[in-house]
Amino acid sequence: MSKPIPGIHHVTMIAGSPQTNLDFYTKLLGMRLVKLTVNFDDPGSYHFYYGDGLGRPGTLLTFFPHPGGYQGRVGAGQTSAVALAVPAGSLDYWIDRFAAEAVDFDGPHERFEEQYISLKDPDGLTIEIFESGSSEGETWSNSPVPGEHAIRSVHSVTLLQKQVGATGNLLSEMGFTETSGEENRTRFEGDPHAFGRYVDLIEEPQSAAGRVAVGSVHHVAFRTESDLSQREWREKLSAEQYGVSPVMERDYFKSIYFREPGGVLFEIATDGPGMSIDESPEGLGSHLKLPEWLEPQREKIEKALPPLRLPSSLTEAK
Ligand code: ZN
Repeated sequence: MSKPIPGIHHVTMIAGSPQTNLDFYTKLLGMRLVKLTVNFDDPGSYHFYYGDGLGRPGTLLTFFPHPGGYQGRVGAGQTSAVALAVPAGSLDYWIDRFAAEAVDFDGPHERFEEQYISLKDPDGLTIEIFESGSSEGETWSNSPVPGEHAIRSVHSVTLLQKQVGATGNLLSEMGFTETSGEENRTRFEGDPHAFGRYVDLIEEPQSAAGRVAVGSVHHVAFRTESDLSQREWREKLSAEQYGVSPVMERDYFKSIYFREPGGVLFEIATDGPGMSIDESPEGLGSHLKLPEWLEPQREKIEKALPPLRLPSSLTEAK
């Protein structure tokens, strides 16, 4: 019996300009850059990880910046929105912040009894910010956003599909429960105590296929606690005829990938070893980290990567 999946581990997107992406997520949204590395499958591009103060699973958004890349398009078989959670009572702070920075947003609106606003990131990705309960968490002490209002975690993802039945069945098998619905949106919930525990499915039979490129979500990763539980999931999904990748070493976790029936690329990632495997908790994200097998090529890789200005607050411990 495979262990239920508690929630989302991270969500990975494709961005355009690395600097614009870094500034938006760290300076405007106040998330911490917890890891600065390269795409292990394409070391010519960066891989940014943003998260809470410790970069814990369930708080992470990651980006592959492809400067000058094709613009993506949201459509069937894609993740159409990524939502982040802020503590109850914090939405007014965010509304004022965006207004002061002249950032367009939409809302507040209500969904399943929670208030949220939505906005586009610089590449057109839809980001939603939900007032969602608890203020506990490990916020980043150097964030430009005060800790009491800081983003706590991923809240949910919304998957857009022509038909949602088979995806719903898969989510149920993974340990999620269908909890609510309105119009063509159905919500599935994982462990009620986990970060990133919601997955919403939107059914739009007429929707055209999308294109995964700049400004869109590349994959959604779900958590599993150990190498063993990951192996069990791999065997179970393979037995059900999902084409599951081999276990991939990502240094900060291990990953398997497969495509869910609606077309979205899913990953199952282990909780450990985590972001502190190669940097101290204070120093997370302050230096370009490479996997051991790429270290011999560091000079060449650094030269080929676009230059990046890390805000000094990222590299100075408070
Ligand atoms: Zn991933």
